Amino acid sequence: MSSYVLVLNCGSSSIKFAIVAVNNGESILSGLAENLGSDNSTLKISHAKTSTSYSLPANCKHESALSSINNILNEYQDLKQKVVAIGHRVVHGGEIFTQATLIDDEVKAAIKNTSHMAPLHNPANLSGIESAQLAFPALQHVAVFDTAFFQTMPKHAYLYALPYELYKTHGIRRYGFHGSSHEFVSTKAAELLNQPLEVSNLITAHLGNGCSITAINQGKAIDTSLGLTPLEGLVMGTRCGDLDPSIPTYMQETLGYSASKVNDLLNKSSGLLGISELSNDCRLLEEQSKNGNELAQLALEIFCYRLAKYIASYMVASGPLDALVFTGGIGENSSFIRQRTIAMLSTLNFSINEQLNEKMRFGHAGFVQQEASHKIIVIPTNEEWVIANKAAKLTLASGEQ
Ligand code: AMP
Repeated sequence: MSSYVLVLNCGSSSIKFAIVAVNNGESILSGLAENLGSDNSTLKISHAKTSTSYSLPANCKHESALSSINNILNEYQDLKQKVVAIGHRVVHGGEIFTQATLIDDEVKAAIKNTSHMAPLHNPANLSGIESAQLAFPALQHVAVFDTAFFQTMPKHAYLYALPYELYKTHGIRRYGFHGSSHEFVSTKAAELLNQPLEVSNLITAHLGNGCSITAINQGKAIDTSLGLTPLEGLVMGTRCGDLDPSIPTYMQETLGYSASKVNDLLNKSSGLLGISELSNDCRLLEEQSKNGNELAQLALEIFCYRLAKYIASYMVASGPLDALVFTGGIGENSSFIRQRTIAMLSTLNFSINEQLNEKMRFGHAGFVQQEASHKIIVIPTNEEWVIANKAAKLTLASGEQ
């Protein structure tokens, strides 16, 4: 009998959830509760190609939303009975969590203690965990950390060239995010290459609204572009990625911006949106770019140029490359971004097969390079499956003890 895991991703005002089949990663039922804490909280559940909307109590928070979700899941008794565990996405695990873990009081305290490094995410993740424990007391709860996959990085990759004291006393270092996605596509890439992951050297580019790139040497993450927070590195939908570290102080001291205005500007109005003055949606920018919109063209060019530079530099970290992998909404679907980025890497022996590149979109996985090129693979990610797998394994193992 196939088993299922309820995967929960709790944000400050939302809960994204899915019941995932452990054997094949299929999402059997999924849902989204939004605008929690306001008087128009909504809940939508999708199952078997139909979508049902429910209203939630006014000012409903995680606890009552999860209790409502639990009640609604009673309508899907057959499925609910096969749920063996709850897997929680937790954004920041600091240096404490190098892998997924069964949740107990000590784990919750450690997640709380890491909250200062992800103030927008960890408190919401924790509130989701506590509420889910109340709503589903009979099930084991497992925390799966976005940062854990990167705990194999060596010190020379994760330390900034700042006074060492800041690392020792305040934990200021690179942590990395999108771990479940990079883990999923690296495992899949090794399968497609027909070789063990443990001997695979890869560069995995997760390009969605948030973007990150990871160098993998012999199956282990060796470097990654997101840092202390998910702001560093590549150009993203609304986040700036790398910039001269003096720019934020310049904006504060010379332009008179407040610290929170600078923070908002870098996180919410930069990236593709900031440059194009139009949108963070890559699809729209491609469309407008074709129509001759110069800022849309510029935004996409900066996106690809930064990405190409990162790919080139990560060849230092990965060692002799087995494959470059594209994933995430943009990486999986935008043949334009892939083609333009690879064109910038022609001197490093990358070239794209245009027909294959056009074919690998909308859920198709496969190779897209020309014969003499480094291998380039498109792989649709499935972060929920990674979380479901880890939650099921830990729950099973705890039952066997
Ligand atoms: P994600 O955060 O992984 O859901 O990815 C969201 C991003 O993927 C947005 O910028 C979308 O515009 C982009 N995206 C989705 N589908 C396409 C597509 N067919 N072509 C280009 N970009 C796409």
